[in-house]
Amino acid sequence: MARYTGAVCRLCRREGAKLFLKGQRCYTDKCAVARRSYAPGQHGQNRKKVSEYGLQLRAKQTAKRYYGVLESQFAKYFEMAEKKSGVTGENLLQILESRLDNVVYRLGWANSRAEARQLVLHRHFTVNGKTVNIPSYLVKAGDMVAIKDESKQSPKFKLIAEVNGSRPVPAWLDLNADAAQAKINTLPARADIDLEVEETLIVELYSK
Ligand code: SF4
Repeated sequence: MARYTGAVCRLCRREGAKLFLKGQRCYTDKCAVARRSYAPGQHGQNRKKVSEYGLQLRAKQTAKRYYGVLESQFAKYFEMAEKKSGVTGENLLQILESRLDNVVYRLGWANSRAEARQLVLHRHFTVNGKTVNIPSYLVKAGDMVAIKDESKQSPKFKLIAEVNGSRPVPAWLDLNADAAQAKINTLPARADIDLEVEETLIVELYSK
């Protein structure tokens, strides 16, 4: 399946949730969800009651779109989550949250996850001192993630730091903003992940 290239605000309106796909605009009153909190399209305002399957599907789509993951990749993450000990739904969110592009976004080093993915592909970051250009790379507790020396002085990163400097960084990441590096203290627990989705619905969907 190809990556979605349409208007991203439609995705948020479809899920009825802010998915933070558009950088700074998401934090302003220009956000489309804030202005039109109903699904897009001609019948968006008079949708009927959603079935149980519909709720499960929407939960899966919300998580998939929030992290910018394609269907097949998402299904693989679910398999990984099932094999890990613990609660499958929470494992799934922890895996998604451990992706390098998400970590870069959480650290405020990109305006959106889509931009973080681009920056990772363009080789701007290291993990434990080595360049990593794989957005889906999964970080582990104890890893050190950093912006490369030659990149951190660039106007692009200076602007990103200016714009995102006040965005809170989750406690599972220990950011040293001056050094442009961060330690992964621990992998996030469910309480550390602010995605408003009922992950049990995703588990139910894949268990059919
Ligand atoms: Fe979603 Fe951001 Fe658009 Fe709001 S501004 S609808 S959060 S992408």
